[in-house]
Amino acid sequence: MKSAGVAGGLAFLPMFALEAAPLRYSMKPVEIAPGAWMLTGVDEAITRENGGAIANITILDTSEGAVVIDTGPSRRYGVQLAETARELTGKPVVRAFITHFHPDHVFGSQAFGAKTLAAPAGVVEGLKRAGDDFASAMYYLAGDWMRGTEVVLPEQFVETGVEDIGQRRIRTLVLGGHTDCDLAIFDEASGLLIAGDLAFLDRAPTTPHADLPVWQASLKTLSETSFSGLVPGHGPMEMTPRALRQTGDWLKSIEELIGGAFDRGLDMNEAMQEPLPAWTQKIALARYEYERSVMHFYPKLEADLWPRVDRQD
Ligand SMILES: [Zn+2]
Repeated sequence: MKSAGVAGGLAFLPMFALEAAPLRYSMKPVEIAPGAWMLTGVDEAITRENGGAIANITILDTSEGAVVIDTGPSRRYGVQLAETARELTGKPVVRAFITHFHPDHVFGSQAFGAKTLAAPAGVVEGLKRAGDDFASAMYYLAGDWMRGTEVVLPEQFVETGVEDIGQRRIRTLVLGGHTDCDLAIFDEASGLLIAGDLAFLDRAPTTPHADLPVWQASLKTLSETSFSGLVPGHGPMEMTPRALRQTGDWLKSIEELIGGAFDRGLDMNEAMQEPLPAWTQKIALARYEYERSVMHFYPKLEADLWPRVDRQD
């Protein structure tokens, strides 16, 4: 009897340990240029398995301290990001830029504090407007990963211009189209263009707050930058402008598909069934994001609120 009791107790222990173990993101920084690292997000929608770690995060080393671009999906992620940045650079984070107000990019911000956070005024406005709703949605989608996460509003405001942080000269470009305000960052020392969600690569762009003509104009502006590497908001870093071209092609395709389906009198469910161009078969989440785009844009078409690039009348 006694030994059975011990065995039962032992069997119970590992289960207890498993449940009590804190959730931890697997952070695998990859050096993409001297003193520049990227944490690659997974090519998935936000789930309880991935904890919302789907966006790319960039870390830069400067003589004044570490700079991070975007803070990830949760307080927990932000805390680990701060640890990782310190391990890589030997310095604390002195600046955290926020590229736009989407939850997979901003909810690690608590780890850095409002004074370290920098974003364009339009991003801060967006967070004021929608931050609490995004937080609720993230708790629903990612569950316990989000524990203790709250919105933090950046206190430093970024405009299009140039700023020196330590030895690094950072060019900031305030653009829009993916949301009403999107920040892209060009690091002169490395030649890296960190595009935020203005660029996606091999992962379908998300459009819940998109303005397609404005987004296309921003892609044109970014393509005029002569960069040596491009970090998209989602997908791999590449030394080519492929992410800009592919994002533009995707936006053009969904505009034609959704606009065409609407013109033919299809209802929303029928529009979602439309075949996608063959090239999108290699794009992660193509069907999923196309369907979400139909859901965002169809009501706007019905209310005649969607500016069509192909219709100038
Ligand atoms: Zn986004």
